Amino acid sequence: MEDDEGPECGKPDFVLLDQVTMEDFMENLKLRFEKGRIYTYIGEVLVSVNPYQELPLYGPEAIARYQGRELYERPPHLYAVANAAYRAMKRRSRDTCIVISGESGAGKTEASKHIMQYIAAVTNPSQRAEVERVKDVLLKSTCVLEAFGNARTNRNHNSSRFGKYMDINFDFKGDPVGGHIHSYLLEKSRVLKQHVGERNFHAFYQVLRGCEDEELQELHLQRNPAVYNFTRQGAGLNVVLDIDEKSHHQAVTEAMRVIGFSPEEVASVHRILAAILHLGNIEFVELESNLEQGRLAVTEEVLVDHVAELTATPRELVLRCLLARTVASGGREVIEKGHTAAEASYARDACAKAVYQRLFEWVVDRINHVMEPRDRDPRRDGKDTVIGVLDIYGFEVFPVNSFEQFCINYCNEKLQQLFIQLILKQEQEEYEREGIAWQTVEYFNNATIVDLVERPHRGILAVLDEACSTAGPITDRIFLQTLDTHHRHHPHYTSRQLCPTDKTMEFGRDFRIKHYAGDVTYSVEGFIDKNRDFLFQDFKRLLYNSKDPTLRAMWPDGQQDITEVTKRPLTAGTLFKNSMVALVENLASKEPFYVRCIKPNEDKVAGKLDEGHCRHQVAYLGLLENVRVRRAGFASRQPYPRFLLRYKMTCEYTWPNHLLGSDKAAVGALLEQHGLQGDVAFGHSKLFIRSPRTLVTLEQSRACLI
Ligand code: ADP
Ligand code: MG
Repeated sequence: MEDDEGPECGKPDFVLLDQVTMEDFMENLKLRFEKGRIYTYIGEVLVSVNPYQELPLYGPEAIARYQGRELYERPPHLYAVANAAYRAMKRRSRDTCIVISGESGAGKTEASKHIMQYIAAVTNPSQRAEVERVKDVLLKSTCVLEAFGNARTNRNHNSSRFGKYMDINFDFKGDPVGGHIHSYLLEKSRVLKQHVGERNFHAFYQVLRGCEDEELQELHLQRNPAVYNFTRQGAGLNVVLDIDEKSHHQAVTEAMRVIGFSPEEVASVHRILAAILHLGNIEFVELESNLEQGRLAVTEEVLVDHVAELTATPRELVLRCLLARTVASGGREVIEKGHTAAEASYARDACAKAVYQRLFEWVVDRINHVMEPRDRDPRRDGKDTVIGVLDIYGFEVFPVNSFEQFCINYCNEKLQQLFIQLILKQEQEEYEREGIAWQTVEYFNNATIVDLVERPHRGILAVLDEACSTAGPITDRIFLQTLDTHHRHHPHYTSRQLCPTDKTMEFGRDFRIKHYAGDVTYSVEGFIDKNRDFLFQDFKRLLYNSKDPTLRAMWPDGQQDITEVTKRPLTAGTLFKNSMVALVENLASKEPFYVRCIKPNEDKVAGKLDEGHCRHQVAYLGLLENVRVRRAGFASRQPYPRFLLRYKMTCEYTWPNHLLGSDKAAVGALLEQHGLQGDVAFGHSKLFIRSPRTLVTLEQSRACLI
C-alpha cells in the first residue's frame, strides 16, 4: 500500500469535488473503486465501498502506518477513523463513538472488526495481563455472537440478524479494561422459517455438523439438517453443505472457552439447540373422540421424550404444555384448557422462538459479565472513558414488509435524526458560537417521520399497543383502520383506503410510510401478533423449573404463578422503541465518527459497481447533503493552542515560541507565511480550515522538518 495517492485515484475527499452533483460524486466513487480505493472521506466521515475481495489494506504494517497520525496524513482508511476516535478519547478524555451504517451486505460488520483489531493492536504496549484478557474477550466475542446471531441470507452469506452496540472501556493509560454489548431485536422468526436460499442461524448447523458422534447421539440428533423442519426449509442441501461447519464449530467452542464459558455451559447450549430442533419436528393431530381430555395428541411421542431429557424437565409436564394451557378463571381458580391443533402449533413455535431468543440474550449477558471493567479508575470517579461501536441493520425494503422491517426502518430514521442533529445542526451552531459567517444549507429534517412512529397516544406504535391490549378479538385490519383515522392528513403516511387509485397497495392490508430513504409499503398482517409476542406462562414455568441451571437461569419470569401474572409485559414494539431512545441518547452524549458503507452490487462479486444501486444508497444516506454542509462549512477546526502545538515548527515566527500577543495572531502569522490565509476563518477560540488540501500542505511541511 502506498502512502500517497496520485490524481489518477480521484479525490480522497468528496469535499474536494469541483461541483457537488450526483454525477460528480458517482464518478469519483467509481474511479476510486476501480483503483482499489474503497475508502473516501467527506470531512471526517468515511465512505466505504465493499470490495468483495481481499485487498492488501489491513494487518500490522498498515496499522503501524496509521498509528498516531492525523486523519489527512494518509490515504482514507478505517484505521484512520479508529485512530481518530481513539486519540480524541485519549487526548481529551472524551467518550467517542463510531456509527457504522449501510444496507445488508455493505460491509458494516467487517468494518467493525477492523476497528476492533486496530484498537487491540495499538493498545497495551506493556502487555498487562488483565488488559490482554479483555482484548482477547473483545475479539473472540465477535465469533461467538456471529454463530448465534448471524445467518446466511440472499443478500449476505454472513448476515447479522441483530443490531449490536459495543462499548469498550479504557483506563487512563488508554488501554481497554472492559466492555459491554447491547443487542437489538434479534430476528427470531428465522428460527421457524427461512426464505428460499436462506438458512437458520449458523449455530444449528454448527452443532449438527461439528459435534463429535458421541455428543450427537446424546443429543439424539442426526447429522443431516434436512431432517429438521427448522433447518430444512429455505435451503437446498448444497447451500447447507458449502460452509465448513466443523472448523467453525471448533472455532466457536474455542472462543467460548477463552471467554470463560464452562464446559457444562457449552454442553447446555448444545442441548438447548437440539431441543429446539426436536421441538420443531413435533406435530399435532386432533383425535376423533369428543372427550375434552386427550382430544389432541402429538404424532411422535419420542420427540417429547427428547425435549424433556434435553431440557431436564418432566416428560408429562412437557406434554401438558404442548397440548393445553392453564388459565386463571377469576381469583385463585385455575383451569386447564385444551389446545386445538392450530393453537398447539402456534404455542410450539412461540416456545421455540422464545427459547432461542433467551439463549442468545444469555450468551450476550455471559460475555458482558466477563468483560465488566474490574479496576475502575479512581481519578474519574470510577468512570472509564469509552469508545462505542455501533453496527446496526440498515434501511430494508422487501417485496413484502412486516413488523420487523417497520422496526428496522424506524431505527434508521432515529439514527438519521441523530446524524442530522450532530453533523448538520451542531456544525451550524458552532459557527454561530464562534462568530463565523454561515450560509444555511437546506436539508430534509425527518423528525416528522420519527414522530409518526413514536408519538404518544396517536403514533403507530401507540396505536398498535392499544390494539394489542384490547380484550376480545381484534384484527390487524381494525388496527389499520385506526391508523388511517389518525394519520389521514400526515404527509408521510398513506394507505389504499386513503389513496384508492394506488394499486400498489392492497385494501385492508397495506399502509405506506414515506421514509427519508424512500417509500416502504408495510403489510399489517401479523403486526399485532408479533408486537404482543406472547408465550404461555406454562412454558415459562416449565423451563424455570428445569434441573439444568443454565437453562433455568434464562427464565426468571417463570417463577410467577399464573394467578399472579397480572401485569401485561411490555410489547415488542415498545421495548424496541425504549431501547432506541436509550441508544440515541447514549450516542448523542459522545463525540461521533461515522462510517457510511455502500454495497456495490447485488451479486456479491468483486470489481463491479452497479451505478443505479449505488446512487440510491448515496441518496438515502444523505451523502450529498453531507458534502454540501462540509463545503459550505469547514473540513476541520482546531483550537488555536492545539494547532500551534502541531505546526509551530513550520514557521520562524512561532518556533519555538511566539511573541505575537495571542495564539490567534500567531496562527495568523503562520498561515500567512504558508500563503494559506485565504482558506481559513478565524473563530473566537478555534481556527476553521475550509479545505483538507490546506491540512495536507501543513502536514507535508511539518513532515519535511521531522
Ligand atoms: P453487513 O454487516 O453490512 O451486512 P458484512 O460486513 O457482513 O456486511 O460484509 C458482507 C461480506 O462482504 C463479508 O462477508 C465479506 O465477504 C465482504 N466484505 C465486507 N467488507 C469487506 C472488506 N473490507 N474486504 C473484503 N471483503 C469484505
Ligand atoms: Mg452485519
